[in-house]
Amino acid sequence: MRSRAIAFVAATLLAGAAILSAQEPGAGAPPAPAAPSAIAAPPAGPGPTGSLAPPAAETGPVAVPEPSEKALKYYRSGNTLWVVETLWGFVIPLIILFTGFSARIRTLAVRLSGGRWFWTIALFAVLYGLVGFAIDLPLSYCTGFARPHAYGLSDQLPSKWWGDAFKGLGVGLVLSALTLWIPYLLLKKSPKRWWLYTSIAAAPIVVLLMMVTPVFIEPLFNKFGPMKDKALEQRILALADRAGISGGKVYEVEKSVDTKMVNAYVNGIGQTKRIVLWDTTLRKLKPQETLFVMAHEMGHFVLGHVPQLVAVSCVLILVGLLAVHLTANGLIARFRDRFGFESLSDVASLPLLSLIFGLVFLVVSPAFLAFSRHVEHEADRFGLEITKDNRNAATAFVKLQQENLGNPRPGPVNKLFRQSHPPLGERIDFANEYRPWAAGQPLTYGKLFREK
Ligand SMILES: [Zn+2]
Repeated sequence: MRSRAIAFVAATLLAGAAILSAQEPGAGAPPAPAAPSAIAAPPAGPGPTGSLAPPAAETGPVAVPEPSEKALKYYRSGNTLWVVETLWGFVIPLIILFTGFSARIRTLAVRLSGGRWFWTIALFAVLYGLVGFAIDLPLSYCTGFARPHAYGLSDQLPSKWWGDAFKGLGVGLVLSALTLWIPYLLLKKSPKRWWLYTSIAAAPIVVLLMMVTPVFIEPLFNKFGPMKDKALEQRILALADRAGISGGKVYEVEKSVDTKMVNAYVNGIGQTKRIVLWDTTLRKLKPQETLFVMAHEMGHFVLGHVPQLVAVSCVLILVGLLAVHLTANGLIARFRDRFGFESLSDVASLPLLSLIFGLVFLVVSPAFLAFSRHVEHEADRFGLEITKDNRNAATAFVKLQQENLGNPRPGPVNKLFRQSHPPLGERIDFANEYRPWAAGQPLTYGKLFREK
């Protein structure tokens, strides 16, 4: 659920956790750029069901399928929707700011809290979150429910969508009410260095959220359990053992109630780290293909991608807050009469913070996504080196494309701003071509796993 209440907290404190989790947009997830730790990019959308082309032959390279008319339509309408959502994300806070509405919410929060500082901040977070939820609801419903149904990508019941939407709102409100005081306290105590101290404070919170998300938050939305296919689970655990992942946990999540799309992801930190397979993936992929997907996910662990992405997220938070620090005071001085507040340390400035932060994020997202695509490519390389199963890797990607209504060759602007994973056409090509072992060449990650 895109909620303005969560926007700031998501941007600052939740960035790492959000970026690393693979929740569906509209399923209670904070706004986040795709899911770099997953096998597939969620925005790619689910595919036409039952249209899997049988492989032409059991050996040899796998052709990249032409996207269907429906997939191209899904791709083009997705681009339009992305522009609308992006503009929406800027226009709404602007309206809330320039009409003085944010200041009015703050005045109400002060009255309700009896002027107590902490409660004013917490109440503002809740009220602003509720307003944002209501404003965003039509767009959230369109992207999260109507659109996937229109494309045959989902059997989700309306009651499940609404239930998830309100649960997501609840989680967002609690998190923002619990954390919003941190930047505002630091703004009051250290107007010159608050951005640095807030970034430092955000790092352990991001890590903590990464730890608790799989255990306390995700189970609010879906059922997680052990894998039902015990034979396949044994093969996955044997592969994990070869990759040196001891005591690796593999979960099956009942995602079929939300989507027909196919995906898998890693999340959690320390004791809570795990690989999660959507039940849809297990139904639609052959065991050998699922094993490659798992090898890709294991690559994320072995190559340290989760901590790397947390570190990058923290840098992003620092840059965003610095941009706020450098620009917000000038804007407030210029528009104080319209805004209805005089200082950045007034909690009514929250829409301004999230606006500047959103702009910074948009500007740096090509660099961030390029890093994410690099990480995903290396996880593919790891998966190929440990399984040496080019064929099933390539057919797994073909199924991801077909089931998720993917476009294997998106345009350059789409790739720059929206693709957290290499386009599926490139991944299929790489899976067909990459076999250094066949030429007796050393493996890039050969030292990181045990041969069979
Ligand atoms: Zn991945």
